[in-house]
Order: sequence, then structure tokens, then C-alpha cells
Amino acid sequence: MAQTRGNLFILSAPSGAGKSSLINALLKKHADMKVSVSHTTRAPRPGEENGVHYHFVSTDEFKALIAKDDFFEWAQVFDNYYGTSKQAIESQLDAGIDVFLDIDWQGAQQVRKIMPSVQTIFILPPSKEELEQRLNNRGQDSAEVIASRMAKAQSETSHYNEYDFVIVNDDFEDALADIEMIVMAQRLTLKAQEDRHQVLLNSLLK
Ligand code: GDP
Ligand code: ADP
Ligand code: 5GP
Repeated sequence: MAQTRGNLFILSAPSGAGKSSLINALLKKHADMKVSVSHTTRAPRPGEENGVHYHFVSTDEFKALIAKDDFFEWAQVFDNYYGTSKQAIESQLDAGIDVFLDIDWQGAQQVRKIMPSVQTIFILPPSKEELEQRLNNRGQDSAEVIASRMAKAQSETSHYNEYDFVIVNDDFEDALADIEMIVMAQRLTLKAQEDRHQVLLNSLLK
């Protein structure tokens, strides 16, 4: 069977809606899916490891990477810089891995321009109250940071209609199954199946 290039997916949502938890659960179940590890200038949260959750860099280091054109996309979010390096995604896609980007709407706009085949998913929380509850339960951000993330939730959410798919993360397992369906369906598109089954198609059409 020919090596089919992996698909690229973007998940965006207001902070606390469950993007990271959903992506982590997905990767645990599927060895052929990976998340791109972003660079950020924000400080690590308790338990976050450099190179695993993010590549934590200083603002000067981040700007040097911008100048070297190392980023596929980057944006300023919550007073920090966040970016996806080109290196984080291309080799994985070439190896047939489906890659997830956990990035904000500004990053999604940039990636759509560079790679129009990207499939984008917006995650909604079931309510404003539940979103705030989840940020508090996560127990990793200060009250001040939580207040600023809640204040920005509405502006992030206002971009939901730029996305291909919208999922409400109320019941976690249901939301996970919804994402799996999107990924699986993408593997069955005409383009993907033509690449994957060239030999079969040639023999059937001879
Ligand atoms: P400050 O001016 O550094 O205090 O920060 P601001 O938040 O006011 O400004 C945004 C920052 O983004 C600036 O520091 C710029 O250096 C940086 N910036 C914005 N666009 C670009 C870009 O295209 N390239 C680079 N290297 N830096 C950028
Ligand atoms: P994000 O990456 O979007 O900021 P997280 O994945 O960190 O969000 O989720 C925020 C918090 O909400 C975490 O503590 C997580 O365990 C919890 N959470 C995520 N999805 C659900 C859900 N469907 N029901 C209840 N809690 C959830
Ligand atoms: P957090 O600090 O909660 O991990 O992430 C804050 C926000 O930054 C989220 O909206 C997340 O999607 C976004 N983000 C994380 N990494 C990137 C990235 O590489 N590029 C962009 N554009 N946004 C990112």
C-alpha cells in the first residue's frame, strides 16, 4: 500500500473548553495521531514539561525563531507568544501521521491560507458557568489569569463560524467520539483513498 500523507487538524476553543484533554485522550487511543508541540513564552504550569507540553522559550528566543522563519504560524495570545514550528509538523505528515494543532483562531487563519486542506474544529463548552468551573477545577492558573481568560472567551468564541466542524464538549466521551469520526471520515475522502488504493483501483479499472 502506498504511503498516504497524514491529515492536518486544528482544534480551537476558549481556554478551558477541553482541547488539551480531548487531544490527549485521542492520542492515547491512536498511535497514528500526534499533537504538534508549540513554542511559547508563557511560564510552565505545575507539571508541564519542556518539550512535552510546550517548548518553553524566552521572548528573545521566540523572536529569533520568527526572524529565522522557523514558524509555520505564530500569534500573540494572552500577552504571550505562541507558535507552531515548521519542523513540528512536516516530517509527521510525510510519515502518514495525522497531526493536531491546538492553536487559537489567529493561528487557524494563517494555517488555512498556507494549507487549505486543513480541517478545522471548534470546541464549545456547554455553558459559560461550566467553562469558569473547569478553569477553576484545573487548578493551574491564578484567579487573575482565570478572570482574563474568561474575559477573552467571548472574543475567541466569536470566530466559531470560521471552522469546518463545531463540537460541544459536554459529555467528554461523546465529544471524543465526534472528533474520532471527523478524523476517520477524512481518511476516507476520494483524495486519500485514491492515494492509498492506487494499485487496487488500477487493477479494477484495467
Ligand atoms: P513590545 O513592543 O515588544 O513591548 O511588545 P508589543 O506587545 O507592544 O508588540 C508586539 C511585539 O510583537 C513587538 O515586540 C514585535 O517585536 C513583535 N512582532 C510583531 N510582529 C512581528 C514580526 O512580524 N516579526 C517579529 N520579529 N516580531 C514581531
Ligand atoms: P483547554 O486545553 O481547552 O484549555 P483543558 O483540556 O485543560 O482545556 O480542560 C480544562 C479542564 O476541564 C480540565 O481540568 C479538564 O479535566 C476539564 N474537562 C475537559 N473536558 C471536560 C468535560 N467534558 N466535562 C468535565 N470536565 C472537563
Ligand atoms: P494555554 O496557555 O492554555 O496552553 O494556551 C492558550 C491559548 O494559546 C489556546 O487558545 C491555545 O489554542 C493557543 N495556542 C497554543 N499553542 C499555540 C500555537 O502554537 N499557535 C497559536 N496560534 N496558538 C496557540
